[in-house]
Amino acid sequence: MASLSRIGSLTAAAILLASAAVAQGYPDRQVTMVVPFAAGGPTDTVARLVAEKMSADLGQQIIVENVGGAGGTLGAAQVAEAEADGYTILLHHIGMATSESLYRELPYNALEAFAPVGLVTEVPMTVVARADFEPADMASFVTYVKENADTITMANAGIGAASHLCGMLLMQALEAPIVTVPYRGTGPAMTELVGGQIDIMCDQTTNTTEQIQGGTIKAYAVTTPERLDLFPDLPTAAEAGLPGIEVSVWHGIYAPAGTPQEAVDRLSTSLQTVLADPELSTRLAELGTAPSPVEDGTPEALSAKLSAEIERWRPIIEEAGVYAD
Ligand code: ASP
Repeated sequence: MASLSRIGSLTAAAILLASAAVAQGYPDRQVTMVVPFAAGGPTDTVARLVAEKMSADLGQQIIVENVGGAGGTLGAAQVAEAEADGYTILLHHIGMATSESLYRELPYNALEAFAPVGLVTEVPMTVVARADFEPADMASFVTYVKENADTITMANAGIGAASHLCGMLLMQALEAPIVTVPYRGTGPAMTELVGGQIDIMCDQTTNTTEQIQGGTIKAYAVTTPERLDLFPDLPTAAEAGLPGIEVSVWHGIYAPAGTPQEAVDRLSTSLQTVLADPELSTRLAELGTAPSPVEDGTPEALSAKLSAEIERWRPIIEEAGVYAD
């Protein structure tokens, strides 16, 4: 018995030593950052900005890999199952919390399958349409969509995506069952919106700002409690009589659960350095948002946000009665 427990403690010591060896000098090679949506969309844009800056800080390249599909849950599942060595990480958004209620069966548990690294940014959404969509402003948009729901198409990035959540709230507020068309991310959806193949979409300013400014799409409202400095003429959804449509898309970085603490800490320190980078703030300001406060670039802050958001959205999603599976 005594010798068995000694073997047990030797094994535990060996595991600890091995994990310390893995983390020592971390990272000593390229890191893959999975983005659970298609390239060219808002999550991808945030990931590439942050990955470039973190690469410089870590002294190793962070490569972005787009694994779109199933509203972000495919990419998240891939990272949940990846080797927990710090070399595969995930940049995901609010979907990490909402999928917990939108899917009755997920291949992972958001609170258990990941080691949170830190919060990255929180991005407003805009209600947008193809440039020649008939309504001139949000008041006429509301009337028009109610009257023509059965002929209007709305893009989203799959069930569990932020665009799906916002679209679901919009349909609920307007009592209008609009036909939705899922994409692997709102990057490809934006191409079709600009091309006029799809009518409307809800999407983050990190994807819509330059299109709105260029006049290639039309914007009707923002989903934040206050108007945005970038678009002072756009009403909030609440001002337009739709108070239920309040969504800000927060993003976080995660490693698989079991990743050595030293690696998680190193990633978090690097993220905090990047959050303080004035160049990142300038670029995000151009896209209608800002980096998270430096003190939120920590495992504790992301963990608290994820738990709170799972609880916040559960009753809203249950009331809407929409499931992905
Ligand atoms: N904006 C997308 C969403 O609706 C995701 C993306 O393509 O980044 O969640």
